[in-house]
Amino acid sequence: PDLFAQWQALTMEPDSHRTMQLRIGNGYDIHRLVAGRPLILGGVTLNHPDGLGLDGHSDADVLVHAVMDALLGALSLGDIGKYFPPTDPKWKGADSLMLLEQVVGLVRQRAWEVTNVDAVVIAERPKLKPHIEAMRCNIASCIGLDPDAVGVKATTNEQLGPEGREEGISCQAVALLSRP
Ligand code: MG
Repeated sequence: PDLFAQWQALTMEPDSHRTMQLRIGNGYDIHRLVAGRPLILGGVTLNHPDGLGLDGHSDADVLVHAVMDALLGALSLGDIGKYFPPTDPKWKGADSLMLLEQVVGLVRQRAWEVTNVDAVVIAERPKLKPHIEAMRCNIASCIGLDPDAVGVKATTNEQLGPEGREEGISCQAVALLSRP
């Protein structure tokens, strides 16, 4: 087959790209590292070498929180504090993946689809690399995406700033939404 001709035909499709609506959203979150709390990132429970975990009202999954804020931000719906206020006992210890499912529901209600998300977790320790695939799969199945459409990356902060001093773990995320 003439792949070039096929590609040309596809890209020449009348105005297909113009009728596709796109929205981008950006999310950020940080939680304190404390003793006596679990360390949950992307729905995966990790072991911190000093036994630390993330403080928060819910399960404090900073990665999932940043992804939720990116999705809400793309539709100018505010932030997760508006939907799941830390003052509400209902969300105490809540599984953030369940909260993410609810946010995806808000997106779908408005006839938008999540195209992809990408996130970077900033943490000195523990090493996140062995757990990245599990985090991507958790988030992907929650949103109803192929894992290929969910990027999760990890970096240390080179011992700089609050993440570098291990006072906390932060995350930045972007999400792209589309509708025909
Ligand atoms: Mg949070």
